[in-house]
Amino acid sequence: MTVTIRPKEVQVSREADVLVVGGGPAGIGAAVSAARTGASTILLEKRGFLGGNITACYVETCNWFLTGTKFSTHGLYAEIEDAYRLEYGRSHDIRGDSSRFSADYLRIYLDELMEKEGVQVLLHSFVNDVVVENGHILAVIIQTKQGPMAVSAKVVIDATGDGDVAVAAGVPFKQGRDKDGFCQPGTLNFRVVGVDARYLSEQGDKLKEIGRKFEKEYLSGRTGLDCKRKDLPFGRLTNAGMISYINYPCSYMIDPTSNVDLSRGEVECRRYIKQFMKYMRNNFHGFEGIELASIAPEIGFRDSRRIEGKYCLTHQDIEEDRRFDDVICVFPRMYDMLSPDGYMLGDGALEGEGNRGHIFVHITGDDDRTFQVPYRCLVPVKTDNLLVAGRCISSTHVAESGVRAIFACMLTGQAAGTGAGLSVQAGVSPEKVDIGGVQKSLRDQGLRL
Ligand SMILES: Cc1cc2nc3c(=O)[nH]c(=O)nc-3n(C[C@H](O)[C@H](O)[C@H](O)COP(=O)(O)OP(=O)(O)OC[C@H]3O[C@@H](n4cnc5c(N)ncnc54)[C@H](O)[C@@H]3O)c2cc1C
Repeated sequence: MTVTIRPKEVQVSREADVLVVGGGPAGIGAAVSAARTGASTILLEKRGFLGGNITACYVETCNWFLTGTKFSTHGLYAEIEDAYRLEYGRSHDIRGDSSRFSADYLRIYLDELMEKEGVQVLLHSFVNDVVVENGHILAVIIQTKQGPMAVSAKVVIDATGDGDVAVAAGVPFKQGRDKDGFCQPGTLNFRVVGVDARYLSEQGDKLKEIGRKFEKEYLSGRTGLDCKRKDLPFGRLTNAGMISYINYPCSYMIDPTSNVDLSRGEVECRRYIKQFMKYMRNNFHGFEGIELASIAPEIGFRDSRRIEGKYCLTHQDIEEDRRFDDVICVFPRMYDMLSPDGYMLGDGALEGEGNRGHIFVHITGDDDRTFQVPYRCLVPVKTDNLLVAGRCISSTHVAESGVRAIFACMLTGQAAGTGAGLSVQAGVSPEKVDIGGVQKSLRDQGLRL
């Protein structure tokens, strides 16, 4: 049986120069940068708060991979880190890692940032439709309890992570790895309270030690746990005895855009949490008295749709550090792709037979290899007033595991926001914007290109 959804006439209730959909790292970068070009800017977010995976999945440990390297944050990300630290301090982690936020304080910080920057934010605004005429987006449709609401803008930026706007506009995309379409697993992070913080923080990093031991136990098949996962990253350890993020329960071979698969993943991960709580109490010294403090609002994803753009970034580009005239982001060479099918062995090679298991490569010490992202990766085919930013930009599956880093997402967001704002000023489509002007503006915003 099929049903027909009747067309509806909807009043355009808001208009802006630039409309950003999705308030994660990419959307934050895009909205702030667009507003700073002088463009009137609206930011739509489906949840009740901003921050994307950082706040909704407790991924507060954003830039651990820069620690001990020659690289540091720059641009808006560094601005946010500095301002956040000034206001909230760094006492949230007694292990002294300054690259971590508290997801809860960050929500408040981001509300205030948007107000200060003059970005109009609409929360609880789920976008799943657009009105397109000849490749031009006339309006974006938000689903609200009061019915559909239309918002129009000269340029739209899709920072939904899943490319929802681009797909609704008819832009082709790819999802998951080429051979079977599977993405990295969905993960449902959770928090515990009641750990022995004093013991865990004295004499070295005991949480890292626990993680290393757990991996050995897992590989020897002795844990008896149902969840397929050997690595066990921990988030902040606080004086109050909280571990703010246990990145463990994973659901594999799940389509992040299917509500049927998402339902399975949420339930499966909650079951793993129940089992793992018991395991930690019984096996990890310092965890004997733990209680479950909270489960993240939603299962989180590291990749899903990748939009077809005017250029597709490949891992060969990353390996060769290929230079592009329209570079808008320079990032330390890295890949972090959790096994899409839960296979825990494999040599983690970027291609070929070994390309199974966890691909995990990141720079260390004096290694200063970088890669470039060209502006064309943000320009989708088939539309003339849309840009994409964040993890859904045009790239191959393996390359995405580098560009998906939170800091990289904010950089591509800043580039999209700047490109959009300057194209509105010049009265041209974002594809035709003067790229030299975009690059100059990004440098003026503190980005190292
Ligand atoms: C468990 C886990 C651990 C991770 N660990 C790290 C790490 O340690 N370091 C690191 O750098 N990266 C890590 N990542 C990856 C990183 O979180 C993401 O790649 C990054 O957040 C992507 O940013 P984004 O802005 O593109 O998308 P997201 O963070 O996914 O943000 C998208 C935003 O858009 C909103 N949205 C989505 N669809 C719609 C819609 N239709 N309408 C309106 N709003 C919408 C969402 O609610 C969300 O706020 C991790 C990811 C996960 C899941």
